[in-house]
Amino acid sequence: MHRIRRTRIIATLGPASSSFELIKKLADAGADVFRLNMSHGTHDEISHLYNTVREVEKKTDRPIGILADLQGPKLRIGVFEDMKILLQRGQKFSLDMDSTPGTNKRVELQHPEIYEAAQVKTELLLDDGKVRLLIDSVQKNIIFTTVLVGGELSNRKGVNLPSAILPLASLTKKDRKDLSFVLDLGVDWVGLSFVQRPEDVMEAKELINGRAAIMAKIEKPSAVHAIDEIIAVSDGVMVARGDLGVELPMELVPAKQKKIIRHARRAGKPVVVATQMLESMIKSPVPTRAEVSDVANAVFDGADAVMLSAESAAGDYPEEAVSCMGRIALTIEKEPSYKRMLSEDSTLPEATTADAISAAAKQVASTINAHAIVTYTGSGSTALRASRERPETPLLVLTPNMGTARRLALVWGLNCVHSKDAVDFQDMIDKACGVCYEWGYAKLNERIIIMAGMPFGSPGKTNVLRISRVRDHHLDNRLK
Ligand code: PEP
Repeated sequence: MHRIRRTRIIATLGPASSSFELIKKLADAGADVFRLNMSHGTHDEISHLYNTVREVEKKTDRPIGILADLQGPKLRIGVFEDMKILLQRGQKFSLDMDSTPGTNKRVELQHPEIYEAAQVKTELLLDDGKVRLLIDSVQKNIIFTTVLVGGELSNRKGVNLPSAILPLASLTKKDRKDLSFVLDLGVDWVGLSFVQRPEDVMEAKELINGRAAIMAKIEKPSAVHAIDEIIAVSDGVMVARGDLGVELPMELVPAKQKKIIRHARRAGKPVVVATQMLESMIKSPVPTRAEVSDVANAVFDGADAVMLSAESAAGDYPEEAVSCMGRIALTIEKEPSYKRMLSEDSTLPEATTADAISAAAKQVASTINAHAIVTYTGSGSTALRASRERPETPLLVLTPNMGTARRLALVWGLNCVHSKDAVDFQDMIDKACGVCYEWGYAKLNERIIIMAGMPFGSPGKTNVLRISRVRDHHLDNRLK
């Protein structure tokens, strides 16, 4: 429960990580949130993964978040007779509307709009641009190409046409079906792919109606341009570097990543860095030095979470990838330069009581060397503001709402405990001291800071900052 690491880890589930034993191992290795990728898997498979995570959560002492990532209007090829093929440079390959499994001569591409928009002598990219095809000619419902860069191509890989403008709805028919399915399951976060404008998020928001938090995936240049407006209407954002690095020249992605992190942190919304973070660990038990630097860089920038995709979903070393990510984050967080970054890069409080109290809690905790800052929260909004301050003192969140605890699992530094709301001032102190003691945050006679709102249970009312020493009678009262 007492996680020292502040940066959170999201692990995508898939064929390599679908059993109770494996998911439990990933949670024990440090995964805070599990991602269900709606681009892969049937509803039965997704429901099995969802239920297994909830079973694993019962055997761990931390609330675990579940993020369902909708496919969005992402163009994808169909499947192959033998799951995958190998394309050679210079060979001919075509894409068509025929739904029979593909071969190394052709594959299904079930998106009528693409046949209208595809232009001869432009590139069609597959699998995040790893395979590149040159369009030779386009006929009704068939695109003929020559392979420019070959390689392995497996089922349902993504397709990009950087030079074409495709008129695509932000939520496809499949997304709407998947959305209603995952909301009924009870997921904590929904990831929206290929968001281009704040209106795309608003449309999903209306459908979701508060049943899950919304993570807007930033993977289109237009989304980067409208980043502040998109952040304002989303609950969090993801730097989805896979598609972003195909839609934009790759060398622009690092600066965009920093910009998105900066803007999300300023707004106090969680930001996730995703894709190819430890890519070589799909096949190798150790990452490359460059990958270690990439994870470290996201941690240094103050990202809330870093994400594993194929490394945990389909790789040979899912558990090693999670623990490696955890080790990198923890090591960076101990660096004096990281601590300097936290204090130099902090954002100014806004003129609200929650921000005034959060900023004061950080400062008081540091002055008196308190062992924890405890936040009472119902909706999670106060905890988000406390995290936005990026205090060096550990943050503990008490919430009567399990949904809130799970949503906050991907937020920088928040350690959530599902606990009954305080009934009065004394109970607020007893519970906070008791939980700090029980979870090893503070010993007897050590000081903690408590943030709460009075009257208890009324949302948006954070107005109390209390310094307390953990005493025997707090623990006795709590057990009464
Ligand atoms: C990405 O493109 O980086 C991403 C996270 O989305 P997906 O894995 O769905 O392609």
